[in-house]
Amino acid sequence: MSIAYQLQNVFQRISDAVTQYICKPYPVTLLAVSKTHKICKIEEAFNAGQRNFGENYLQEAVGKIIALNDYEICWHYIGPIQSNKTSKIAEHFDWVHSVERLKIARRLSEQRSQDSKPLNICLQVNISAEENKSGVAPDQLRELMTQVQSLERIKLRGLMCIPAKTDDFDQQRLAFREMSQLFHHLQKDFPNLDTLSMGMSGDLEAAIAEGSTMVRVGTDIFGTRNKPLES
Ligand SMILES: *Cc1c(COP(=O)(O)O)cnc(C)c1O
Repeated sequence: MSIAYQLQNVFQRISDAVTQYICKPYPVTLLAVSKTHKICKIEEAFNAGQRNFGENYLQEAVGKIIALNDYEICWHYIGPIQSNKTSKIAEHFDWVHSVERLKIARRLSEQRSQDSKPLNICLQVNISAEENKSGVAPDQLRELMTQVQSLERIKLRGLMCIPAKTDDFDQQRLAFREMSQLFHHLQKDFPNLDTLSMGMSGDLEAAIAEGSTMVRVGTDIFGTRNKPLES
C-alpha cells in the first residue's frame, strides 16, 4: 500500500470521525509520526501533501531534518527529553509535545535562537495516572503552565497525552474526555491555548470525538516500525 493511499485513508477516518461526533466543521491537524522510517518515506508523504512530521529519537531526527532542509516541513519532537538533549531540540524543531518539567522548558527557551520563531510547546499530561509513565500530574498542571507561559522563547500551545492502552472505545473516550475537560478549564486562564494533541493509530476516532485538534499517527501511515535507527 502506498503512503499516499494510507494518508488518504487516515484523512478519511479523521473526516468521518468529525462528521459522526462533532457534527460541524472542526479542524484536526494530522501529525505523521515518521520515527524509525527512512527519509525516502518522509519524501513520499511530503509529495502526497503532508507537511507536519513527528520524531522521537533525537539523533535520527536531526539527520533527517538536515537531509530534508530544502523541504518546507514543520518538525515536531514527541519523544522523552533529557536535559542534555534540549539544545539540539531547540535548534532543529518547530514544536515539542513532550515537555513535563520546568527545567526542560527553561533550557529550551534559553537555547532557542533569537533568529528562530519561539518554540511551540505542549505539556505532556499523565492522564491515566500510570506510575512509570511520563507527564505532569493533572493537579500540578496549572502551576507548570504559569511558569512555562512566562518563558521568553517559548509559545505555550496546549496539552498532549498518551493514555493507558486499551482497545475499548468507551474506555479510550473516558481518558480523552478528562483531557478535554482539563483543557477547556485551563483555556479560561490561558486563552492562547489552541492545541490538544491526542489520538494515535489505534484511538484517533475516540480522541476526535472528545475534541482532539492534532492526532499523531505513525503505524497507519508508514506501516510497522523498524528498530530505531539510533537508540
Ligand atoms: C510513536 C508515537 C505515536 C504514533 O503511534 P502509532 O500507534 O504508530 O500511530 C504517537 N505519539 C507518540 C508520542 C509516539 O511516540
